[in-house]
Amino acid sequence: MRITAAFSIVIASCLLAPPHVAADVTKPSRSTIESQYREVATRIIDATMQQNGAWKKMEGLCDGVGHRISGSPELDKAVEWALATMRSDGHENVHPEKAMIPKWTRGDEWAKLVEPRISDLHMLGLGMSVGTPTGGVTGRVVIVQDEDAFDKAAGQMRGAIVLFNNPMPQWTHEKGACYGHTVRFRGKGPRMAAEKGAVACLVRSVTARSLRSPHTGATHFHEDGLSIPGAAITTEDADMLQRMVDAGEAPVVTLKMDARYHGMVPGANVIGELRGSERPDEVVVISGHLDAWDVGQGAHDDGGGCVAAMEAISVLRRLGLRPRRTIRVVLWTNEENGVFGAKQYVIDHKDELAKHVAAIESDSGTFTPVGMSVQHDDKSRQAAMANRMTEILALLEPIGPMKATEGWSGADVGLMRSAGVPLLGQNVHGATYFDYHHTHADTLDKVDPKDLSQCVASMAVVSYIIADMPGRLDDLPELTPTNIHSTRGDIKSAPHHR
Ligand SMILES: [Zn+2]
Repeated sequence: MRITAAFSIVIASCLLAPPHVAADVTKPSRSTIESQYREVATRIIDATMQQNGAWKKMEGLCDGVGHRISGSPELDKAVEWALATMRSDGHENVHPEKAMIPKWTRGDEWAKLVEPRISDLHMLGLGMSVGTPTGGVTGRVVIVQDEDAFDKAAGQMRGAIVLFNNPMPQWTHEKGACYGHTVRFRGKGPRMAAEKGAVACLVRSVTARSLRSPHTGATHFHEDGLSIPGAAITTEDADMLQRMVDAGEAPVVTLKMDARYHGMVPGANVIGELRGSERPDEVVVISGHLDAWDVGQGAHDDGGGCVAAMEAISVLRRLGLRPRRTIRVVLWTNEENGVFGAKQYVIDHKDELAKHVAAIESDSGTFTPVGMSVQHDDKSRQAAMANRMTEILALLEPIGPMKATEGWSGADVGLMRSAGVPLLGQNVHGATYFDYHHTHADTLDKVDPKDLSQCVASMAVVSYIIADMPGRLDDLPELTPTNIHSTRGDIKSAPHHR
Protein backbone atom coordinates (compact mmCIF):
# COMPACT_ATOMS: atom_id res chain seq x y z
CA MET A 1 0.00 0.00 0.00
CA ARG A 2 1.36 3.38 -1.03
CA ILE A 3 1.31 6.26 1.41
CA THR A 4 1.53 9.76 0.08
CA ALA A 5 4.25 11.99 1.45
CA ALA A 6 1.75 14.45 2.93
CA PHE A 7 -0.18 11.64 4.72
CA SER A 8 3.00 10.08 6.15
CA ILE A 9 4.01 13.45 7.60
CA VAL A 10 0.67 13.60 9.44
CA ILE A 11 1.26 10.09 10.87
CA ALA A 12 4.81 10.95 11.90
CA SER A 13 3.74 14.14 13.63
CA CYS A 14 1.00 12.22 15.46
CA LEU A 15 3.54 9.68 16.70
CA LEU A 16 5.91 12.39 17.86
CA ALA A 17 3.48 14.78 19.37
CA PRO A 18 -0.17 13.80 19.25
CA PRO A 19 -2.33 16.78 20.23
CA HIS A 20 -3.78 15.15 23.40
CA VAL A 21 -0.32 14.58 24.93
CA ALA A 22 0.23 18.29 25.46
CA ALA A 23 -3.12 18.51 27.26
CA ASP A 24 -2.30 15.47 29.44
CA VAL A 25 0.96 16.90 30.72
CA THR A 26 -0.75 19.74 32.53
CA LYS A 27 -4.04 17.98 33.21
CA PRO A 28 -3.68 14.22 33.72
CA SER A 29 -6.52 12.21 32.27
CA ARG A 30 -8.79 10.49 34.76
CA SER A 31 -7.92 6.86 35.39
CA THR A 32 -9.91 4.10 33.78
CA ILE A 33 -11.33 3.01 37.13
CA GLU A 34 -12.37 6.56 38.02
CA SER A 35 -13.96 7.28 34.66
CA GLN A 36 -15.65 3.90 34.29
CA TYR A 37 -16.93 3.30 37.80
CA ARG A 38 -17.46 6.65 39.56
CA GLU A 39 -21.13 6.88 38.59
CA VAL A 40 -22.03 3.29 39.43
CA ALA A 41 -20.12 3.44 42.73
CA THR A 42 -22.10 6.48 43.80
CA ARG A 43 -25.33 4.74 42.81
CA ILE A 44 -24.41 1.67 44.90
CA ILE A 45 -23.52 3.81 47.92
CA ASP A 46 -26.72 5.88 47.70
CA ALA A 47 -28.92 2.79 47.37
CA THR A 48 -27.19 1.02 50.27
CA MET A 49 -27.48 3.96 52.62
CA GLN A 50 -31.21 4.27 51.89
CA GLN A 51 -32.04 0.63 52.65
CA ASN A 52 -32.10 -1.29 55.92
CA GLY A 53 -31.72 -4.82 54.56
CA ALA A 54 -28.44 -5.35 56.40
CA TRP A 55 -29.90 -4.39 59.76
CA LYS A 56 -32.86 -6.78 59.21
CA LYS A 57 -30.35 -9.56 58.50
CA MET A 58 -28.43 -8.70 61.68
CA GLU A 59 -31.67 -9.04 63.67
CA GLY A 60 -32.28 -12.42 62.06
CA LEU A 61 -28.80 -13.69 62.90
CA CYS A 62 -28.09 -12.04 66.26
CA ASP A 63 -31.56 -12.05 67.84
CA GLY A 64 -33.01 -15.00 65.91
CA VAL A 65 -30.04 -17.37 66.24
CA GLY A 66 -27.76 -15.81 68.85
CA HIS A 67 -24.28 -17.10 69.60
CA ARG A 68 -23.16 -20.07 67.51
CA ILE A 69 -19.98 -21.89 68.39
CA SER A 70 -18.49 -24.51 66.08
CA GLY A 71 -20.32 -27.82 66.31
CA SER A 72 -23.37 -26.40 68.14
CA PRO A 73 -27.08 -26.69 67.20
CA GLU A 74 -27.09 -22.87 67.04
CA LEU A 75 -24.47 -22.91 64.28
CA ASP A 76 -26.59 -25.44 62.35
CA LYS A 77 -29.50 -23.03 62.76
CA ALA A 78 -27.33 -20.15 61.47
CA VAL A 79 -26.47 -22.20 58.38
CA GLU A 80 -30.21 -22.79 57.72
CA TRP A 81 -30.91 -19.10 58.28
CA ALA A 82 -28.16 -18.02 55.85
CA LEU A 83 -29.33 -20.46 53.15
CA ALA A 84 -32.96 -19.35 53.48
CA THR A 85 -32.02 -15.65 53.54
CA MET A 86 -29.82 -15.84 50.44
CA ARG A 87 -32.45 -17.89 48.59
CA SER A 88 -35.17 -15.39 49.41
CA ASP A 89 -32.91 -12.59 48.13
CA GLY A 90 -32.85 -14.45 44.80
CA HIS A 91 -29.17 -15.38 44.71
CA GLU A 92 -27.77 -18.10 42.50
CA ASN A 93 -25.99 -21.31 43.44
CA VAL A 94 -27.00 -21.04 47.12
CA HIS A 95 -25.81 -24.17 48.91
CA PRO A 96 -23.93 -25.50 51.94
CA GLU A 97 -20.51 -27.11 51.53
CA LYS A 98 -19.73 -29.71 54.16
CA ALA A 99 -16.67 -29.43 56.40
CA MET A 100 -15.78 -31.44 59.49
CA ILE A 101 -15.36 -29.06 62.44
CA PRO A 102 -14.41 -29.40 66.12
CA LYS A 103 -17.07 -29.54 68.82
CA TRP A 104 -16.03 -28.17 72.20
CA THR A 105 -18.38 -27.33 75.05
CA ARG A 106 -17.78 -25.03 78.00
CA GLY A 107 -20.09 -26.56 80.56
CA ASP A 108 -20.26 -25.20 84.09
CA GLU A 109 -17.26 -23.10 85.10
CA TRP A 110 -16.17 -20.70 87.82
CA ALA A 111 -13.09 -19.29 89.52
CA LYS A 112 -12.75 -18.16 93.12
CA LEU A 113 -10.10 -16.40 95.12
CA VAL A 114 -9.82 -18.48 98.31
CA GLU A 115 -6.81 -16.82 100.01
CA PRO A 116 -6.27 -14.22 101.47
CA ARG A 117 -10.07 -13.77 101.27
CA ILE A 118 -12.94 -15.40 99.42
CA SER A 119 -14.21 -13.66 96.30
CA ASP A 120 -15.61 -14.69 92.91
CA LEU A 121 -13.35 -14.03 89.94
CA HIS A 122 -15.12 -13.23 86.67
CA MET A 123 -13.86 -15.67 84.07
CA LEU A 124 -14.47 -17.46 80.78
CA GLY A 125 -12.74 -20.72 79.98
CA LEU A 126 -10.57 -20.66 76.86
CA GLY A 127 -12.03 -22.40 73.84
CA MET A 128 -10.59 -25.92 73.26
CA SER A 129 -9.25 -26.01 76.84
CA VAL A 130 -9.36 -29.22 78.83
CA GLY A 131 -11.56 -29.20 81.94
CA THR A 132 -10.61 -29.61 85.59
CA PRO A 133 -11.34 -32.62 87.81
CA THR A 134 -14.88 -32.54 89.25
CA GLY A 135 -13.92 -30.60 92.37
CA GLY A 136 -11.76 -28.11 90.46
CA VAL A 137 -8.08 -27.37 91.00
CA THR A 138 -6.60 -25.11 93.64
CA GLY A 139 -3.19 -23.49 93.59
CA ARG A 140 -1.22 -20.46 94.68
CA VAL A 141 -0.99 -17.86 91.92
CA VAL A 142 2.32 -17.23 90.14
CA ILE A 143 2.11 -14.12 87.97
CA VAL A 144 4.27 -13.42 84.91
CA GLN A 145 4.06 -10.62 82.34
CA ASP A 146 6.11 -12.02 79.46
CA GLU A 147 8.44 -14.82 78.34
CA ASP A 148 11.43 -13.51 80.32
CA ALA A 149 9.45 -13.35 83.55
CA PHE A 150 8.09 -16.81 82.78
CA ASP A 151 11.59 -18.27 82.49
CA LYS A 152 12.66 -16.63 85.76
CA ALA A 153 9.61 -17.95 87.65
CA ALA A 154 9.61 -21.40 86.04
CA GLY A 155 10.98 -23.06 89.19
CA GLN A 156 7.97 -21.90 91.28
CA MET A 157 5.27 -23.25 89.01
CA ARG A 158 4.88 -26.87 90.14
CA GLY A 159 1.38 -27.21 91.61
CA ALA A 160 0.66 -23.52 91.01
CA ILE A 161 -1.84 -21.61 88.89
CA VAL A 162 0.10 -19.42 86.47
CA LEU A 163 -1.41 -16.05 85.52
CA PHE A 164 -0.13 -14.41 82.33
CA ASN A 165 -0.77 -10.76 83.17
CA ASN A 166 0.17 -9.23 79.85
CA PRO A 167 -1.84 -6.02 79.27
CA MET A 168 -3.13 -4.94 75.87
CA PRO A 169 -1.98 -1.38 75.10
CA GLN A 170 -4.52 1.34 74.32
CA TRP A 171 -5.54 1.46 70.66
CA THR A 172 -3.85 4.15 68.58
CA HIS A 173 -4.23 5.24 64.95
CA GLU A 174 -0.58 4.45 64.28
CA LYS A 175 -0.30 1.02 65.89
CA GLY A 176 -3.90 -0.19 66.04
CA ALA A 177 -4.81 -2.68 68.78
CA CYS A 178 -1.63 -4.85 68.89
CA TYR A 179 -3.94 -7.88 69.14
CA GLY A 180 -1.59 -10.34 67.47
CA HIS A 181 1.17 -9.56 69.97
CA THR A 182 -0.98 -9.39 73.10
CA VAL A 183 -3.00 -12.53 72.42
CA ARG A 184 -0.04 -14.90 72.31
CA PHE A 185 -0.35 -16.28 75.86
CA ARG A 186 -4.00 -17.16 75.32
CA GLY A 187 -2.82 -19.58 72.66
CA LYS A 188 0.41 -20.94 74.10
CA GLY A 189 0.12 -20.15 77.84
CA PRO A 190 -1.58 -23.35 79.08
CA ARG A 191 0.98 -25.57 77.36
CA MET A 192 3.92 -23.46 78.64
CA ALA A 193 2.62 -23.63 82.21
CA ALA A 194 1.79 -27.37 81.91
CA GLU A 195 5.38 -28.09 80.95
CA LYS A 196 6.53 -26.47 84.22
CA GLY A 197 4.13 -28.52 86.34
CA ALA A 198 1.39 -25.93 86.88
CA VAL A 199 -2.15 -27.22 87.56
CA ALA A 200 -4.01 -24.46 85.68
CA CYS A 201 -3.40 -21.33 83.62
CA LEU A 202 -5.13 -17.96 83.77
CA VAL A 203 -4.67 -15.21 81.20
CA ARG A 204 -5.51 -11.54 81.54
CA SER A 205 -8.38 -10.84 79.10
CA VAL A 206 -7.16 -9.45 75.79
CA THR A 207 -8.63 -5.97 75.96
CA ALA A 208 -7.40 -2.49 76.81
CA ARG A 209 -10.69 -1.43 78.43
CA SER A 210 -12.97 -3.43 80.65
CA LEU A 211 -16.20 -3.27 82.60
CA ARG A 212 -15.17 -6.47 84.37
CA SER A 213 -16.10 -8.61 81.38
CA PRO A 214 -13.91 -11.63 80.63
CA HIS A 215 -12.88 -12.30 76.99
CA THR A 216 -12.71 -15.86 75.76
CA GLY A 217 -10.89 -17.11 72.65
CA ALA A 218 -9.14 -20.23 71.44
CA THR A 219 -6.17 -21.76 73.13
CA HIS A 220 -3.90 -24.18 71.31
CA PHE A 221 -5.22 -27.71 71.27
CA HIS A 222 -2.72 -30.50 71.87
CA GLU A 223 -3.45 -34.03 70.65
CA ASP A 224 -0.87 -35.45 73.08
CA GLY A 225 -3.00 -34.34 76.03
CA LEU A 226 -0.19 -32.39 77.74
CA SER A 227 -2.27 -29.40 78.68
CA ILE A 228 -3.92 -27.91 81.73
CA PRO A 229 -7.19 -25.98 82.08
CA GLY A 230 -6.97 -22.41 80.77
CA ALA A 231 -9.29 -19.49 81.50
CA ALA A 232 -9.39 -15.76 80.93
CA ILE A 233 -10.04 -13.50 83.91
CA THR A 234 -10.97 -9.82 83.77
CA THR A 235 -8.31 -7.13 83.65
CA GLU A 236 -9.70 -5.84 86.98
CA ASP A 237 -9.21 -9.22 88.69
CA ALA A 238 -5.76 -9.63 87.12
CA ASP A 239 -4.77 -6.21 88.46
CA MET A 240 -6.07 -7.11 91.93
CA LEU A 241 -4.08 -10.36 92.03
CA GLN A 242 -1.00 -8.45 90.86
CA ARG A 243 -1.43 -5.88 93.65
CA MET A 244 -1.72 -8.67 96.21
CA VAL A 245 1.48 -10.35 95.01
CA ASP A 246 3.29 -7.00 94.86
CA ALA A 247 2.24 -6.40 98.48
CA GLY A 248 3.82 -9.69 99.54
CA GLU A 249 0.58 -11.70 99.83
CA ALA A 250 0.19 -15.19 98.36
CA PRO A 251 -3.22 -15.39 96.65
CA VAL A 252 -4.71 -18.85 96.17
CA VAL A 253 -7.35 -19.56 93.52
CA THR A 254 -9.72 -22.45 92.82
CA LEU A 255 -10.70 -23.01 89.19
CA LYS A 256 -13.54 -25.29 88.12
CA MET A 257 -14.25 -26.05 84.44
CA ASP A 258 -16.39 -28.77 82.86
CA ALA A 259 -14.92 -27.95 79.42
CA ARG A 260 -14.83 -30.89 77.03
CA TYR A 261 -13.71 -31.63 73.49
CA HIS A 262 -16.09 -33.99 71.66
CA GLY A 263 -14.15 -34.58 68.42
CA MET A 264 -14.95 -33.55 64.85
CA VAL A 265 -18.58 -33.21 63.71
CA PRO A 266 -20.20 -32.20 60.39
CA GLY A 267 -20.60 -28.48 59.70
CA ALA A 268 -20.82 -26.33 56.57
CA ASN A 269 -19.61 -23.22 54.81
CA VAL A 270 -22.51 -21.38 53.16
CA ILE A 271 -22.23 -20.17 49.56
CA GLY A 272 -24.39 -17.84 47.46
CA GLU A 273 -23.55 -16.06 44.21
CA LEU A 274 -24.24 -13.18 41.89
CA ARG A 275 -23.15 -14.95 38.71
CA GLY A 276 -20.94 -13.08 36.26
CA SER A 277 -22.29 -11.99 32.86
CA GLU A 278 -19.20 -12.70 30.73
CA ARG A 279 -16.71 -14.76 32.75
CA PRO A 280 -18.81 -16.52 35.39
CA ASP A 281 -16.06 -19.04 36.12
CA GLU A 282 -13.82 -16.23 37.41
CA VAL A 283 -14.66 -15.47 41.03
CA VAL A 284 -14.42 -12.69 43.59
CA VAL A 285 -15.02 -14.15 47.05
CA ILE A 286 -16.53 -11.85 49.67
CA SER A 287 -16.74 -13.32 53.13
CA GLY A 288 -17.14 -13.35 56.88
CA HIS A 289 -17.25 -16.23 59.35
CA LEU A 290 -20.60 -17.58 60.47
CA ASP A 291 -19.40 -19.26 63.68
CA ALA A 292 -18.94 -17.19 66.84
CA TRP A 293 -18.00 -17.79 70.46
CA ASP A 294 -20.62 -19.24 72.79
CA VAL A 295 -21.20 -15.91 74.52
CA GLY A 296 -22.87 -12.69 73.38
CA GLN A 297 -24.46 -12.70 69.91
CA GLY A 298 -21.40 -12.69 67.66
CA ALA A 299 -22.58 -9.31 66.36
CA HIS A 300 -19.28 -7.60 65.54
CA ASP A 301 -17.42 -10.94 65.45
CA ASP A 302 -18.45 -11.80 62.87
CA GLY A 303 -22.16 -11.42 62.21
CA GLY A 304 -21.49 -8.03 60.66
CA GLY A 305 -18.90 -9.45 58.25
CA CYS A 306 -21.32 -12.16 57.10
CA VAL A 307 -24.19 -9.74 56.68
CA ALA A 308 -22.02 -7.17 54.85
CA ALA A 309 -21.12 -9.83 52.28
CA MET A 310 -24.68 -11.15 51.97
CA GLU A 311 -26.24 -7.72 51.65
CA ALA A 312 -23.57 -6.49 49.20
CA ILE A 313 -24.75 -8.82 46.43
CA SER A 314 -28.39 -8.19 47.38
CA VAL A 315 -27.87 -4.46 46.81
CA LEU A 316 -26.17 -5.11 43.45
CA ARG A 317 -28.98 -7.48 42.43
CA ARG A 318 -31.69 -4.99 43.36
CA LEU A 319 -29.90 -2.34 41.26
CA GLY A 320 -29.79 -4.76 38.31
CA LEU A 321 -25.98 -4.72 38.34
CA ARG A 322 -24.31 -7.92 37.14
CA PRO A 323 -20.51 -7.70 36.82
CA ARG A 324 -18.50 -9.61 34.22
CA ARG A 325 -17.19 -12.09 36.81
CA THR A 326 -19.02 -13.93 39.60
CA ILE A 327 -19.20 -12.48 43.10
CA ARG A 328 -19.37 -15.41 45.54
CA VAL A 329 -20.43 -14.93 49.14
CA VAL A 330 -18.70 -17.46 51.41
CA LEU A 331 -19.74 -17.66 55.07
CA TRP A 332 -16.93 -19.62 56.68
CA THR A 333 -17.53 -22.12 59.42
CA ASN A 334 -15.20 -22.59 62.42
CA GLU A 335 -12.89 -19.59 62.06
CA GLU A 336 -12.65 -19.18 65.80
CA ASN A 337 -11.20 -22.53 66.84
CA GLY A 338 -9.62 -24.28 63.92
CA VAL A 339 -10.39 -22.57 60.54
CA PHE A 340 -11.58 -25.97 59.29
CA GLY A 341 -14.22 -24.39 57.01
CA ALA A 342 -11.62 -22.44 55.04
CA LYS A 343 -9.25 -25.43 55.02
CA GLN A 344 -11.99 -27.55 53.41
CA TYR A 345 -12.81 -24.81 50.87
CA VAL A 346 -9.20 -24.69 49.70
CA ILE A 347 -9.23 -28.48 49.22
CA ASP A 348 -12.63 -28.62 47.49
CA HIS A 349 -11.92 -25.64 45.19
CA LYS A 350 -8.21 -26.21 44.51
CA ASP A 351 -8.71 -26.52 40.74
CA GLU A 352 -10.65 -23.27 40.73
CA LEU A 353 -8.32 -21.09 42.83
CA ALA A 354 -6.36 -19.87 39.79
CA LYS A 355 -9.63 -18.25 38.69
CA HIS A 356 -10.21 -16.57 42.04
CA VAL A 357 -9.36 -13.00 41.09
CA ALA A 358 -9.75 -11.81 44.70
CA ALA A 359 -10.89 -13.01 48.12
CA ILE A 360 -12.11 -10.41 50.60
CA GLU A 361 -12.77 -11.00 54.30
CA SER A 362 -14.44 -8.72 56.81
CA ASP A 363 -13.56 -9.84 60.35
CA SER A 364 -12.55 -6.75 62.31
CA GLY A 365 -15.97 -5.66 63.50
CA THR A 366 -18.64 -3.61 61.77
CA PHE A 367 -17.42 -0.10 62.46
CA THR A 368 -16.83 2.86 60.10
CA PRO A 369 -14.91 1.47 57.11
CA VAL A 370 -11.54 3.15 56.56
CA GLY A 371 -10.13 1.17 53.64
CA MET A 372 -8.84 -2.26 52.79
CA SER A 373 -5.64 -4.15 53.31
CA VAL A 374 -4.13 -6.05 50.40
CA GLN A 375 -2.05 -9.20 50.64
CA HIS A 376 -0.37 -11.29 47.96
CA ASP A 377 2.20 -14.04 48.01
CA ASP A 378 4.17 -12.06 45.41
CA LYS A 379 5.31 -8.69 46.79
CA SER A 380 5.39 -6.89 43.41
CA ARG A 381 1.82 -8.01 42.75
CA GLN A 382 0.87 -6.89 46.25
CA ALA A 383 2.26 -3.42 45.46
CA ALA A 384 0.32 -3.36 42.19
CA MET A 385 -2.82 -4.33 44.12
CA ALA A 386 -2.27 -1.51 46.60
CA ASN A 387 -1.99 1.04 43.79
CA ARG A 388 -5.12 -0.20 42.07
CA MET A 389 -7.03 -0.40 45.38
CA THR A 390 -6.11 3.23 46.05
CA GLU A 391 -7.96 4.13 42.85
CA ILE A 392 -10.95 1.94 43.69
CA LEU A 393 -11.19 3.15 47.28
CA ALA A 394 -11.20 6.76 46.06
CA LEU A 395 -14.70 6.03 44.75
CA LEU A 396 -15.89 5.41 48.34
CA GLU A 397 -15.20 9.07 49.06
CA PRO A 398 -18.89 9.82 49.84
CA ILE A 399 -18.51 7.51 52.89
CA GLY A 400 -15.24 9.02 54.06
CA PRO A 401 -11.48 8.89 53.53
CA MET A 402 -10.20 5.42 52.63
CA LYS A 403 -6.72 3.99 52.49
CA ALA A 404 -5.19 0.88 50.93
CA THR A 405 -2.62 -0.73 53.19
CA GLU A 406 -0.39 -3.74 52.64
CA GLY A 407 -0.53 -6.61 55.13
CA TRP A 408 -2.88 -9.00 56.93
CA SER A 409 -6.17 -9.84 55.18
CA GLY A 410 -8.08 -12.46 57.17
CA ALA A 411 -7.71 -15.86 58.87
CA ASP A 412 -9.97 -17.66 56.39
CA VAL A 413 -9.00 -16.09 53.05
CA GLY A 414 -5.38 -16.19 54.25
CA LEU A 415 -5.34 -19.92 53.49
CA MET A 416 -5.59 -19.11 49.76
CA ARG A 417 -2.42 -17.02 49.83
CA SER A 418 -0.02 -19.76 48.81
CA ALA A 419 -2.26 -20.46 45.79
CA GLY A 420 -1.56 -16.90 44.61
CA VAL A 421 -5.08 -15.58 45.21
CA PRO A 422 -5.12 -11.78 45.72
CA LEU A 423 -6.43 -11.21 49.26
CA LEU A 424 -8.16 -8.24 50.84
CA GLY A 425 -9.32 -7.41 54.36
CA GLN A 426 -11.98 -4.84 55.21
CA ASN A 427 -10.39 -2.27 57.53
CA VAL A 428 -12.58 -0.38 59.97
CA HIS A 429 -12.11 2.20 62.70
CA GLY A 430 -10.93 -0.22 65.35
CA ALA A 431 -10.76 1.81 68.57
CA THR A 432 -13.54 -0.10 70.37
CA TYR A 433 -13.56 -3.55 68.73
CA PHE A 434 -11.60 -5.23 71.50
CA ASP A 435 -13.93 -3.82 74.16
CA TYR A 436 -16.55 -6.33 72.91
CA HIS A 437 -14.49 -9.02 71.17
CA HIS A 438 -15.29 -12.57 72.43
CA THR A 439 -17.47 -11.34 75.32
CA HIS A 440 -21.07 -11.48 76.49
CA ALA A 441 -21.23 -7.85 75.35
CA ASP A 442 -20.78 -8.52 71.61
CA THR A 443 -24.46 -7.89 70.94
CA LEU A 444 -26.39 -6.11 68.21
CA ASP A 445 -26.87 -2.88 70.18
CA LYS A 446 -23.09 -2.33 69.84
CA VAL A 447 -23.44 -2.11 66.04
CA ASP A 448 -24.25 1.29 64.56
CA PRO A 449 -26.75 0.89 61.68
CA LYS A 450 -24.99 3.60 59.66
CA ASP A 451 -21.58 1.95 60.09
CA LEU A 452 -23.13 -1.36 59.05
CA SER A 453 -24.59 0.16 55.86
CA GLN A 454 -21.25 1.78 55.06
CA CYS A 455 -19.52 -1.60 55.43
CA VAL A 456 -22.08 -3.09 53.02
CA ALA A 457 -21.47 -0.25 50.54
CA SER A 458 -17.71 -0.70 50.80
CA MET A 459 -17.99 -4.45 50.15
CA ALA A 460 -20.48 -3.94 47.29
CA VAL A 461 -18.50 -1.23 45.46
CA VAL A 462 -15.11 -2.92 45.81
CA SER A 463 -16.33 -6.39 44.85
CA TYR A 464 -18.35 -5.04 41.92
CA ILE A 465 -15.41 -3.15 40.44
CA ILE A 466 -12.92 -6.00 40.94
CA ALA A 467 -15.41 -8.43 39.40
CA ASP A 468 -16.15 -6.15 36.47
CA MET A 469 -12.87 -4.40 35.53
CA PRO A 470 -11.09 -5.72 32.45
CA GLY A 471 -7.82 -6.79 34.13
CA ARG A 472 -7.08 -8.58 37.39
CA LEU A 473 -6.42 -6.64 40.56
CA ASP A 474 -2.95 -8.20 40.84
CA ASP A 475 -1.86 -7.73 37.21
CA LEU A 476 1.59 -6.22 37.09
CA PRO A 477 1.60 -2.59 35.88
CA GLU A 478 2.96 -3.27 32.38
CA LEU A 479 0.12 -5.70 31.74
CA THR A 480 -2.79 -3.61 32.85
CA PRO A 481 -5.32 -1.98 30.58
CA THR A 482 -5.06 1.10 32.81
CA ASN A 483 -1.38 1.40 32.10
CA ILE A 484 -1.68 0.61 28.39
CA HIS A 485 -4.26 3.36 28.20
CA SER A 486 -2.14 5.86 30.09
CA THR A 487 1.07 5.21 28.14
CA ARG A 488 -0.76 6.53 25.10
CA GLY A 489 -0.75 9.82 26.94
CA ASP A 490 1.71 10.80 29.63
CA ILE A 491 3.40 7.91 31.35
CA LYS A 492 4.15 10.07 34.38
CA SER A 493 0.44 10.42 35.04
CA ALA A 494 -0.11 6.66 35.02
CA PRO A 495 -1.27 5.66 38.50
CA HIS A 496 1.15 2.76 38.75
CA HIS A 497 4.19 4.98 38.30
CA ARG A 498 3.34 7.58 40.91
ZN1 LIG B 1 -13.75 -13.16 64.01
